[in-house]
Amino acid sequence: MPTLGAIADDFTGATDLATMLVARGFRTVVAVGPDALETSPSGTDHPALADADAVVVALKSRTAPVEEAVGLSLRALGGLRALGCTRFYFKYCSTFDSTPRGNIGPVTDALLDALGADRTVVVPSFPATGRTVYRGRLFVHDDLLDESPMRHHPLTPMRDSRVDRLLEPQTGRPVSRIGLETVRAGEDTLRAALDDPARAGALTVVDAVDDRDLAVIAGATGELPLVTGAAGLAVGLVGPHPGEARARPASRPGDPGVVLAGSASAATRAQVAHALGRLPHRRLDPAALRTDFDATVTGLTGFVRDCWRTDPGRPPLIYTVAAPEDVEARTPDGAEPAAALVERALARCAAALVDAGARRLLVAGGETSGAVVTALRARTLGIGAPIAPGVAWATTEASPTGRPVTLDLALKSGNFGGTDIFTQAWEQLV
Ligand code: ADP
Repeated sequence: MPTLGAIADDFTGATDLATMLVARGFRTVVAVGPDALETSPSGTDHPALADADAVVVALKSRTAPVEEAVGLSLRALGGLRALGCTRFYFKYCSTFDSTPRGNIGPVTDALLDALGADRTVVVPSFPATGRTVYRGRLFVHDDLLDESPMRHHPLTPMRDSRVDRLLEPQTGRPVSRIGLETVRAGEDTLRAALDDPARAGALTVVDAVDDRDLAVIAGATGELPLVTGAAGLAVGLVGPHPGEARARPASRPGDPGVVLAGSASAATRAQVAHALGRLPHRRLDPAALRTDFDATVTGLTGFVRDCWRTDPGRPPLIYTVAAPEDVEARTPDGAEPAAALVERALARCAAALVDAGARRLLVAGGETSGAVVTALRARTLGIGAPIAPGVAWATTEASPTGRPVTLDLALKSGNFGGTDIFTQAWEQLV
């Protein structure tokens, strides 16, 4: 039965935390939205939520309206409690992605209220990815947050680096800070500082510069019903199945596989370029989709099926962007924007290919992954072998046409992974 329940404010954040929890010895299942915490229409949930040590609910709430984010998070909390979870973790981005209204503050307030809990910690630090907090200031590698590229983020521009100042306008609770010297004085000192009556009801931003600091924070907050932070905070947790928490793959070597790359990010472009000389491939062209959507998708899926027959050892690659000029700069008048069109097409390809026998899918792109998971009607992902930081294989039961199929799925945020990930990821599926 799961005891640790996490609520993540976006999809790739959920898999990031889940991968970390598996490494820390928690058998971990990601539930796709609060609905997935209820029994599926076919009466099964696979992988089974009840067998997990930790369940991470993946929401799409980071930039949703505040009321919607709070509502989704509270539904997730209710579902996690019903499964038996007793400790909770609200996971947000290590760059504290939020607006002056939320959603980190309002969701934290609502979760504390629902749990009847008095106070919690705010720990965005994730040293392995260069995010550290010192004197309450959030750094991205060598830069303060508001001097990093996050200053110009289209949805959540971060124009301050003081985490307490970012949080204050988002919460009805007092916000306090605890400095590195208290963390470095050890668990007991930090616990005493957090228990200080002066911090009643507060959200406390805690400094952390390296993984040992995060371990101290995890130790000192073991009794709090709720902690909040980035995936880094999980570095300090210890689960009940060290060394044996990975879900076993559902597919076998040689089973049909495919790479679907819908991301245009620099890392994915390099991965596509690397794979072009090594894997059979076809480019998905937005203009062709506009001319005849169905025929284009059928052509691509037919190509993949031919490859499975003629060249079974190499999973084909369907991609949209190999060079920056492949990104459609301007939508023709009255036409559907390329981004939505491509997401729809790759989702349709995924569903058709799983129906045709695909048992291993590697998907590149955060939004693309969301579209594929929705099309496959995958409700829960049992996290298995890691592929790269923040990327892991997961077993899932998909039912794109109503018939349940068990398969292995890897969802990669555009910028994650090494150059050879499209050819190397399969070797972890053993
Ligand atoms: P990332 O994780 O790199 O941000 P996403 O999948 O989240 O990747 O976002 C990439 C977006 O770019 C998707 O909406 C995808 O449909 C869109 N896209 C892919 N190819 C093209 C293209 N040729 N022109 C315009 N948009 C594209």
